[in-house]
Amino acid sequence: MAKLYFNYSSMNAGKSTVLLQASYNYAERGMTALLLTAAVDDRAGHGKIASRIGLAAAADTFRNDDDLFGHVSAALAKRPIHAVFVDEAQFLTETQVWQLASVADTLAIPVMCFGLRTDFQGRLFPGSQALLAIADSLKEIKTICWCGRKATMVARLDAAGRVVEEGEQVVIGGEESYVSLCRRHWVDRDLGSGAQAAGE
Ligand SMILES: [Zn+2]
Repeated sequence: MAKLYFNYSSMNAGKSTVLLQASYNYAERGMTALLLTAAVDDRAGHGKIASRIGLAAAADTFRNDDDLFGHVSAALAKRPIHAVFVDEAQFLTETQVWQLASVADTLAIPVMCFGLRTDFQGRLFPGSQALLAIADSLKEIKTICWCGRKATMVARLDAAGRVVEEGEQVVIGGEESYVSLCRRHWVDRDLGSGAQAAGE
């Protein structure tokens, strides 16, 4: 049976790197992967998954109202697909997560989703909530706080590097940046000495 996987992390944990390495492993064996990423994320330009260490690959984009089962089915009619990789999976809707579950269950194609668990206010993203609920496999991609503890939380910083406490879950094209912190330092709004490097 093909499975639905959710690999979750906080910011800057290298999840796009892990995704691209895994999809490369398929290509290396002569197998084809379908890559998807959220249209809301224009960080890498449209239709591209890019990692901070320089890896990049073309990807189809999804929006909230896209039928992803239909998308994968249509692609499958043109070429073989051995795996589906989804970056920025936190932006999936609950409906789309069920569509991806159907890709695994009825098309027998494994679906590997990568995304953030929580937003800057410590709340689950919709896609992450649905994936945590129904994925067959959950795996955390770990990163560390400036203090060395595991970073499970994400803080949003304004252009001046101050922690933002209120606002929309998703900001497009703004000047804010994000930093991953352990829960204790997230609660204390303590950026440590790493504050200057908070952007990346
Ligand atoms: Zn810490």
